Amino acid sequence: MAVRPKYPGGTRFRLYPQAPILDPTREPEVVIVSNPAGSVGPGPEDDRMYAINPVDKWPPYGVQTRRDGSPYLYLPPWDGDIHPPALPDADGHFDYLDEDSPEFLVAHLFGCVRFVQDVWDGYFGETIEWHSADAFDKMELVHLPSYDNSRIGFGFIEFGSSESKSGIFSLDATNFDIIAHEVGHGIIYSTVGLPDPEGETGEYNGFHESAADLVAIISCLHFDSVVEELLKNTEGNLYTLNRLNRIAELSRNEQIRLASNTVTMSQFIDGWRREHVLSQPLTGAIFDTMIDIFHEQLLERALISPEVEALADRYEYQPRYQALVQDMFSDAYAGEKPAFKEALLDARDIVGHYLAETWRRLPADYLSYLQVGDTLCEVDRDFSGGEYTEIIIENFEYREIGRVPIGPQLAKLPRENHMDSSRWMSPGRWEFDAQMRESY
Ligand SMILES: [Zn+2]
Repeated sequence: MAVRPKYPGGTRFRLYPQAPILDPTREPEVVIVSNPAGSVGPGPEDDRMYAINPVDKWPPYGVQTRRDGSPYLYLPPWDGDIHPPALPDADGHFDYLDEDSPEFLVAHLFGCVRFVQDVWDGYFGETIEWHSADAFDKMELVHLPSYDNSRIGFGFIEFGSSESKSGIFSLDATNFDIIAHEVGHGIIYSTVGLPDPEGETGEYNGFHESAADLVAIISCLHFDSVVEELLKNTEGNLYTLNRLNRIAELSRNEQIRLASNTVTMSQFIDGWRREHVLSQPLTGAIFDTMIDIFHEQLLERALISPEVEALADRYEYQPRYQALVQDMFSDAYAGEKPAFKEALLDARDIVGHYLAETWRRLPADYLSYLQVGDTLCEVDRDFSGGEYTEIIIENFEYREIGRVPIGPQLAKLPRENHMDSSRWMSPGRWEFDAQMRESY
């Protein structure tokens, strides 16, 4: 069955739905993004961003330190040499590029970022501008393999590389999950914004990581191949370990979070160190909500019986009953594949729309996970008359959100300062801080 392109007349790119290092046999997939064919220039570059492969760029952008120890703010644009840009073909597309060429990498970066923006602009019902749009005309997307991290900041997103525990090197520019995660941070900076220093909570930081992961999860469900493979492997039983809840499994993310996790707020009662870990109860609550809404979609279509749904819910986290639940799902799935797919896409889009509206409504100051849950319920009342409110409340309560307060932030471990000021430092803020420093 041919899939009707969402953007007829858009620009073609080839993207890896999953980092090639995780699945070397998989070819990149042709996607069409919203830019009208012929409108994306060499780089690629359009009116909101450009991707570059700089020659010998160091250090990364952000707050850096001079030799004398004094800090400075290093921001785009890159003014040095660049490796050859990716050029569009005669019809304006980039899907002709050989995936082993350096030009492919920058095209892949650009294509992934725009793909994720298309998905979320759709959920928001409007174009979400970059948080730095007032100060920078365009976002600079940088392929920087010498950097062992990836980070969005004011006017830039830089994509480094990582090495797994087993010593396998991979480029973040090829990893859709990592790219989508950084765009997710950008969406939160643009919509929720930054708290005042006194209004910044630990939960704000955990929420940021959680939202970035949810952006990655929901965006990857817009690849037809990911949805097909997911349903084929699980036969509709999404609680089994699958593509969807293994986010960015590479080295520095190795300890990180299964979205389908069992972490509750009690774990942080004495304090927390890493916002990635602190994000888990919130991501888990929302991921479980999506699975429950998927089950509701199956029920509504009479694809599973209420008994099967009840069993799946009850044994969600009990491996020894999984075989029983799996058999029931496999039976239900056989012969109803297109209907299961439709149910999954509907659940994905319900949660996508709900999250977008929730983020639009959330304040940055004094943000708490409970407030995220309450706002989701409020959005559910406005969008559906409260069809899923019970599901949302149950999943937030299971995580002890609103019941168990988290402790203070404990000392950060070196190199884990993911939310450091380089992510959000703007020229105006830097000036202001410098004046404050001088006045002391
Ligand atoms: Zn992050």
